[in-house]
Amino acid sequence: AGGGPTRGEFKEITEKDILVFKNTVGVKNVIEDEAQLQPINTDWLSHYKGHSKVAICPENTQQVAKILRYCNDEKIAVVPQGGNTGLVGGSTPVFDEVIINMKKMNKIESFDPLLGVIVCEAGCILQNLDEFLREKGFLMPLDLGAKGSCQIGGNVSTNAGGIRYVRYGSLRGNILGLEAVLPDGTVLDSLTSLRKDNTGYDIKQLMIGSEGTLGITTKLAILAPRLPSVVNVVMLAVKSFQDVLEILGAAREQLVDILSAVEFLDLVSMKMSLSYLDVVYPLQ
Ligand SMILES: Cc1cc2nc3c(=O)[nH]c(=O)nc-3n(C[C@H](O)[C@H](O)[C@H](O)COP(=O)(O)OP(=O)(O)OC[C@H]3O[C@@H](n4cnc5c(N)ncnc54)[C@H](O)[C@@H]3O)c2cc1C
Repeated sequence: AGGGPTRGEFKEITEKDILVFKNTVGVKNVIEDEAQLQPINTDWLSHYKGHSKVAICPENTQQVAKILRYCNDEKIAVVPQGGNTGLVGGSTPVFDEVIINMKKMNKIESFDPLLGVIVCEAGCILQNLDEFLREKGFLMPLDLGAKGSCQIGGNVSTNAGGIRYVRYGSLRGNILGLEAVLPDGTVLDSLTSLRKDNTGYDIKQLMIGSEGTLGITTKLAILAPRLPSVVNVVMLAVKSFQDVLEILGAAREQLVDILSAVEFLDLVSMKMSLSYLDVVYPLQ
């Protein structure tokens, strides 16, 4: 009866736990203030609301490892959180789990222009990575509406797709290496930059799309494609969905792998966009 999930037998946070968190990551990186907790207890769509009393913002992998080891030993439940733009309620606590927010792990560690490989911490904002790469003639292999807030660690944990998928494919192919902390505090170092790596199991694939259920991703090595020298956008009006399919087929055949993105809008969506954005219908 009731239908909702029931709280597991995990511990309620004590003053002693908070003290351990503060000693591990520093007082400034532990959030207890109700007003500051409210937005990170609530998801992007305001569909889900948790009641966490504390959020921790670690600054490096060692701090993540210490926090997870302690929480595991003490049976304290945690929820990893990136930019909190996920649309399926995975980034907010269901009950009073401790939020481990990754925003302080936002450093770019290296970029290799020969291989096009960027190594960065998981809390880097997607748009910041894209801007960094554009200055060097490259771009991120994914782009999505939440790019100004979402973090690359969150993108990987949700296996996000986005509008460059048609051209650059899944993150499963573009993530070359990954470092993560497992629930018991063990650091999984799989941060290779090798494009062809056929040495045994590909553990990182388990982390991609796992929504933070297997551990916390702390660093990533990502394959960045070259920035195209030109970008052309075309908008076509067609009469039926069959026409859409035919145009898509022709575009794929003639543009081959320079086709970057395809977006289909039916008339209902178009009218809705026009009224909300207050713009004029661009076609006859
Ligand atoms: C306007 C808008 C447009 C979007 N467009 C697309 C789209 O085109 N394609 C698409 O696929 N999705 C899209 N999304 C949803 C998309 O999944 C998220 O925006 C993004 O990938 C999540 O990143 P985040 O940093 O906000 O993660 P969060 O929302 O904070 O977290 C998402 C999940 O990942 C986990 N997580 C976060 N960081 C880590 C970490 N470092 N280690 C382990 N687990 C972690 C969380 O626990 C949670 O389960 C969109 C969302 C919005 C709001």
